[in-house]
Amino acid sequence: MSMDDTIQQVIKKIVVRNAIEYGGSARYDVVISKVVGMMPDLRPQIKEQIPLIKKIVDEVNSLDQADQERMASKLMVFENVNKAAKRKEEPNLPPLQGATMGRVVTRFPPEPNGYPHIGHAKAAIIDQEYARMYDGKLILRFDDTNPLNEQLEYYDAISEGLEWLGIKPDLVKNTSDDIELLQSYGREIVMNGDAYVCTCRPDEIHSMRADGVNCPCRSLHSSERMTRLEKFFDGSFEQNEAIVRFRGNMSDQNTAMRDPTLFRIIDADHPKLGKRIRAFPTYDFAAPIEDSIDGVTHAMRTKEYELRNALYFSVLRSLGLRMPILLEFSRLEFEGMPVSKRKLKPLIQGGLVSGWDDPRLPTLAALRKRGILPEAIHKFVLSLGISLADTKPPFESLESYNRKLLDLKSLRLFFVRNPVEIRIVDPILNKIKLKNHPSGQLGTRIVQVSDRIYIDKADADRLKGGQEIRLMEMHNIRLDKVTQGKEADCLRVINTGQEIKSNIPKVQWVSNDDMVPFTVIVPDKLFINEEFNKDSLHTHNGIAESYVSKVEAGSSIQFVRFGFCRLQTNGVAIYTHD
Ligand code: ATP
Ligand code: MG
Repeated sequence: MSMDDTIQQVIKKIVVRNAIEYGGSARYDVVISKVVGMMPDLRPQIKEQIPLIKKIVDEVNSLDQADQERMASKLMVFENVNKAAKRKEEPNLPPLQGATMGRVVTRFPPEPNGYPHIGHAKAAIIDQEYARMYDGKLILRFDDTNPLNEQLEYYDAISEGLEWLGIKPDLVKNTSDDIELLQSYGREIVMNGDAYVCTCRPDEIHSMRADGVNCPCRSLHSSERMTRLEKFFDGSFEQNEAIVRFRGNMSDQNTAMRDPTLFRIIDADHPKLGKRIRAFPTYDFAAPIEDSIDGVTHAMRTKEYELRNALYFSVLRSLGLRMPILLEFSRLEFEGMPVSKRKLKPLIQGGLVSGWDDPRLPTLAALRKRGILPEAIHKFVLSLGISLADTKPPFESLESYNRKLLDLKSLRLFFVRNPVEIRIVDPILNKIKLKNHPSGQLGTRIVQVSDRIYIDKADADRLKGGQEIRLMEMHNIRLDKVTQGKEADCLRVINTGQEIKSNIPKVQWVSNDDMVPFTVIVPDKLFINEEFNKDSLHTHNGIAESYVSKVEAGSSIQFVRFGFCRLQTNGVAIYTHD
């Protein structure tokens, strides 16, 4: 095949696919942008290709539906999408330094202080993928050592989110399971002199840290150090009266090393430990010990922890514990959809969003609710790899993975917004059989029709100039007159036959004899330039063909010329993407 033939072949595929997706007529603009997307080398000479693209679009649009589908199957249009998606499944991760087959242990350590989000998905997927790549193990560890933040609801939400995502840990544990062990390491690190109990006031600690000044508690006599240590762990100190600090270096450029806190007293009900424990380790103390004793070989975390790496290793060195390899990757969040709990919690508490699963949020519960598939999240995350460059991709980049998956398995149904009634002169059909998917693989449905049909107002407006349009998969119509009936205004239209014409718009419709009221909720960007977007949730009321009520809640469908949606209950769907 020559180069020209190859180009022609690719263009044909794009056109046929687009024609089928747009109800029989491909759109030039969409085709041209897809051609450039598929063959970027063509961009400089795209102008020269336009006559060819136009010719193919005209040819394909003039075919009837059956011929378009025959052409699609000859060109293997849908099969190819499938194969392309499969290829991408291969992990895009570089080899792990120092990894031995069968010996790798990774862990995902969420704090149960909120619902899991797309950033957690990235971390968990990378952890799992590396464990699998080396035939190793994945640990899920709830890092729950701050009773002020943890809640049982969040442990459950994290487990549920990960299960939905297809993360299957080999071991699930809580850091709090090891609280006594962590406390005994706490005693040990004070006894060996690498940490001390500090009783300075919080504001004093703060200013000494900023100024790089040593605290007097650092250099106490050993008997006083021991008395304080006993008091600390036997519960004689009040909250904020004393902390255990690592003996770092108060003039270190890396402020994380200026005698950081290892233990503090917190009087609160811990979801797993109750009120029994008061002395809780910080993340900085618990994480390295847990990683080490759990046998973690490669501990991955986000880049902002990098300054804490020195402390991580110092704690292990002081206690003579094995050191895992630490690796960093960048944080992930979508443009206009922050993941930080600092931003999300106030929205939830203030009722600005409906809860952790509000479809505008980047939580796994929300992504699931709006119809994002776990497989799409895997592909998307792995396509990003583990670079350190900050990633704030647009939500659309996840959508494109999702669309490929949904495309193959979503029923095509009709939904009409702002319905305008049309009366058909000379109706010729009373039942019509529609395919549920252009591939012909998802069955058919029968729709009852009479002379009363509804179309979208925007489409009805086009009928004004006497323009002909096609009611998709039915017949063509042209405006006869506007009738002022008793019930409502309606458009009387003439049935202009079933012949498929390439140059007329094709519109979806809903029959008066076969319809249900239907609402689609469309989530939009939650934040625009850091500002909460009050206008971020739109409701579209309309009507859908009644077949939609037979489709199970939780399924994804495609409303033709509208977009993919996930069915909720009671005649409501959430818009997924176009
Ligand atoms: P936040 O509390 O702001 O949501 P966090 O890092 O404190 O974030 P954790 O529950 O402690 O959240 O995170 C568990 C793991 O997930 C950590 O290893 C962390 O590095 C990783 N992680 C958290 N947020 C992201 C993100 N946006 N992108 C990638 N990884 C993340
Ligand atoms: Mg956290």
